[in-house]
Amino acid sequence: MDISYLYFTFSGVFNAVVSTLLGLLVYFKDPRSQVNKTLSLFCFGVAMWSYAYIFWPLSQTAEETLLYFQLLHIGACFVSIFYLHFVVIWLNLYQAQKKIIIFGYLTSAIFSLLVFSPHFIKGMVPKFSMYFWAEPGVLYHFYLLNFFGWFFYSCYLLLKHLRQAEGVKKMQIKLILLGMALSFLGGSTNYFLWYNINIPPYGNILASSFVIFSAYAIIRYKFLDIRVIATEAALLVMNILLFFRFIISSSLMEWIINSVTLVGLLFLSLVLLRSVKREIRRREEIQKLAADLKAVNEKLVELDKAKSEFLSIASHQLRTPLTIIKGYISMIQDGDYGPVPNPKIGEVLSNVYQSNEHLIHLVNDFLDVSRIDAGRTEYKFEKVDLKDILEEVVKQNANRIKEKGLKLKLAIAKNLPRITADVEKIHHAVFNFLSNSIKYTDKGFIKTELFRDGNWLVCQISDSGIGLSPADKENLFQKFYRSENAQQKLVEGVGLGLFVCRKLIEGHRGEVFAESPGVGKGSTFGFRLPIK
Ligand code: ADP
Repeated sequence: MDISYLYFTFSGVFNAVVSTLLGLLVYFKDPRSQVNKTLSLFCFGVAMWSYAYIFWPLSQTAEETLLYFQLLHIGACFVSIFYLHFVVIWLNLYQAQKKIIIFGYLTSAIFSLLVFSPHFIKGMVPKFSMYFWAEPGVLYHFYLLNFFGWFFYSCYLLLKHLRQAEGVKKMQIKLILLGMALSFLGGSTNYFLWYNINIPPYGNILASSFVIFSAYAIIRYKFLDIRVIATEAALLVMNILLFFRFIISSSLMEWIINSVTLVGLLFLSLVLLRSVKREIRRREEIQKLAADLKAVNEKLVELDKAKSEFLSIASHQLRTPLTIIKGYISMIQDGDYGPVPNPKIGEVLSNVYQSNEHLIHLVNDFLDVSRIDAGRTEYKFEKVDLKDILEEVVKQNANRIKEKGLKLKLAIAKNLPRITADVEKIHHAVFNFLSNSIKYTDKGFIKTELFRDGNWLVCQISDSGIGLSPADKENLFQKFYRSENAQQKLVEGVGLGLFVCRKLIEGHRGEVFAESPGVGKGSTFGFRLPIK
């Protein structure tokens, strides 16, 4: 017998064993999954075809060979439609492709019966070095059309999805297509002799690549990372090589060395694979966390925007009536509607005026914040003298300082350069800092300083007031932050003033700062602006 006959039988055994084992493995991995069920069906189709393939090279008579050829083709009839079925289920296309699948099963079933017709195989003739090879009848061409038709259709569906697929799915499709290509490359040699091309089925051994790659892609989908695949492939090759060395060991010594090395390599392979997988899984978890965080962050930004819009609308609606109230109270106080009947009513009016002022201030803060959040703050830059602004703010607050019995110190350096700034915004910031110092200081002093520090102009206001804790320093200048002692002292604050100040100063490329030796020990607030 020709040695190639042995090779053909061996390739049949190889394909049969591999596809049977993988079919069982895929099925028992998840018996309820449709994907696993259809894939194992495909594996068993290939297995049936391979079992018959084992025997045709060994058969001695034309009748026997014909029988194995016929059995082989019954298996082959279903292989392609099983494959399409699996692809359709896996790609979630069953509803859309249902009719095509049913039609595919029908045509394949018909051909599986027609294999016994004399129009499928006309007879047996010697070809190449084979004693018996089948002569194709007219039905055989149609059978091939059915066989390749369903494969190419599966291939078309896979390629179509490859373009939209991402990540693991993309890798799976690529692997499955690669297996398909290898199987075709090898398996196509099975058909040359039928059409009198003198190439025997040497490539048959590759026919089960299909099964191997598909099963790998489906079972190992969690680890379809190219690094894992490369590690697994390299380790497999090394282990197989060492295994062969172990088999061909010629002396006891060699046998011992090879077996110890093999066991060592196997152990190392397992450890290495596990660590590669763990690393990849960890990285995937981090990626997922980062994606979740990003999504939550986007949601927060959206919410923040909605809140700012609400604040802006509400504040605009409040400002008009508050300004009208202010106007009327002023007019009553000025006697525009006749003299105020008694001093008690005058006092009440003054209180109402103060509360109204407080509300206007609050609404203005809200409006400032919403403008800042929406990036709508407009600056009118011009050359200004910070000294003028500081003096004006001090003048505006002189009465409040005096009423509280605080000592005011003013230290403005001489010959300070003018800088480019928005007068109104800087005025707003200085006013806020000084006003806070007055608010949070009951006795002692308030010191206002303006000086040059390198390329900066520094404006700072120190006081002997309630001071700050280290934790406060971290959070000051954030929206709505108020220290605990400030909350006890003054209930009505909202913690927006410093936030607005910071944003306005940053709008000038400047910086704000706050220092304090501790709670109850006074503090220094201020900002620096670049001279150029
Ligand atoms: P509000 O004064 O309405 O609370 P601000 O934004 O102006 O809001 O101030 C935020 C917080 O910073 C205050 O609640 C207070 O805790 C702290 N703070 C501001 N200025 C001083 C100061 N001069 N001394 C001590 N703490 C201050």
